[in-house]
Amino acid sequence: MDYPMRIGGEPVASAQPLDVRLPYDGTTVGTIFQAGRELVEAAVKAAKAAGGAMREMILDERATILRKAYDRLLERKEEFAKAISSESGKPIKEARMEVDRSALTLLFSSEEAHRLHGEVVPMDASPGGRGHMAMTVREPVGVIAAITPFNFPLNLAMHKIGPALAAGNTVVHKPASATPISAIMMADLFTECGLPKGALNVITGPGGSIGEHLCFHQDVAMITFTGSPEVGLRLRNLAGMKRVTLELGNNSAVIVEGDANLEEAAARCVAGSFAHSGQVCISVQRIFVEETVRSEFMDRMVELTEKLKLGHPHDPGTDISSLITEKEAERVESWIDEAVRHGARLLTGGVRKRATVEPAVLADVPANVQISCKEAFGPVVGINGYRNLEEAVARVNESDYGLQAGIYTRDITKAFTAARKVRVGGFMINEIPQYRVDQMPYGGVKLSGTGREGPKYAIEEMTEPKLICWKV
Ligand code: NAP
Repeated sequence: MDYPMRIGGEPVASAQPLDVRLPYDGTTVGTIFQAGRELVEAAVKAAKAAGGAMREMILDERATILRKAYDRLLERKEEFAKAISSESGKPIKEARMEVDRSALTLLFSSEEAHRLHGEVVPMDASPGGRGHMAMTVREPVGVIAAITPFNFPLNLAMHKIGPALAAGNTVVHKPASATPISAIMMADLFTECGLPKGALNVITGPGGSIGEHLCFHQDVAMITFTGSPEVGLRLRNLAGMKRVTLELGNNSAVIVEGDANLEEAAARCVAGSFAHSGQVCISVQRIFVEETVRSEFMDRMVELTEKLKLGHPHDPGTDISSLITEKEAERVESWIDEAVRHGARLLTGGVRKRATVEPAVLADVPANVQISCKEAFGPVVGINGYRNLEEAVARVNESDYGLQAGIYTRDITKAFTAARKVRVGGFMINEIPQYRVDQMPYGGVKLSGTGREGPKYAIEEMTEPKLICWKV
């Protein structure tokens, strides 16, 4: 089936088709069309032209469209789940969860549209403010370029599109080339729900050319990007006066204290390490366990990991399917080999078959190998022992990234000591760093990015507070 782009509410194809393939076995699942610069121009023009209609729409009208999109998406859950699973290779049970979460992201965006407000400014707190009153109103920034990665093709797009529309902006969305189908389907769903034509445009094609052309277009007011730190940093460095929100990578760490509930900690760590084959920005990658319970915790991790079922992503029993490409699977395999060559012990998994890698648990991973210091984005986790909490916190902070981290302990003092000392955007107590619900503020420090998502927080980034002052 063909999936043309959507510009100004209309399907638009180009002379450069590209097949989208199921990563697990290479089956073609659809054909998209790659934009050139002229279609980027057309999409931005359509978004700019729709700006007036979105700005004039009252909050309740925007909220109603988003609420309808929430309802319709849930009605068509299975169809969207199948599309996500086919384009990304994500197991179908996880794809269904992604559709549920995407719908909730739209519901929260709808609710936030009803709550969008400025504030009264206490002008007479300054002597010069005598006789003056002022308030702020939150105005849309204009055309927003939304660029999204392959791993959550629908929900990460909704985290940009939902808040942008709630705030009265218009959007040009460029999904990842591997996973554009659910985004194109979503643009049609929004049109059916009454969104003005041109308020949401979807263009497809290579990020390095059309993505950049879109971001640096003079009529684009803001870039909201989720993806790799390399690309994010480049966009920020070139963005000039444009607003930029960056949601980038991580190598999430979790501390397991000797007093923790080990059964629960191990079960959650296995889930957090291997969901979507570890291709989650907050996937559990580094586990630091107090020496006293290290061997018991490792045994539990291995036992649970070996129970995971590998298979075709459409099989409802599958826990682990392929990575996004065979090349990525080869990279993960080579990182495991490197860790083992430098003294790590491979406790289970790590065998690659085409694009699929068996979930791998490593122990005693040296601090200088790639699995310790870079983002693995694959089904591999390393476990290391520690003697005291200070040492564990130092190891967690030995990272260029800072998205989320966590601790398992029954000692509240230790939990909050770690929460205060670990440098991240979000810290979880008795929960894995992979934990996220869609209304919470979400974003990182250091190389993990700038700005926050979660509809309430994204709307703050996507609006300008305009001051209106009057002399009474
Ligand atoms: P990626 O290679 O950086 O691609 C992300 C998006 O950027 C794609 O749409 C890509 O298009 C586009 N792109 C590539 N080069 C570009 C350029 N020069 N200018 C503008 N756009 C460009 O990332 P990915 O491999 O899809 O995703 C994995 C990364 O995303 C990981 O690092 C992961 O941690 C991060 N991530 C972060 C979060 C978060 O919330 N913090 C969530 C999910 C993922 P093409 O596909 O056409 O190349």
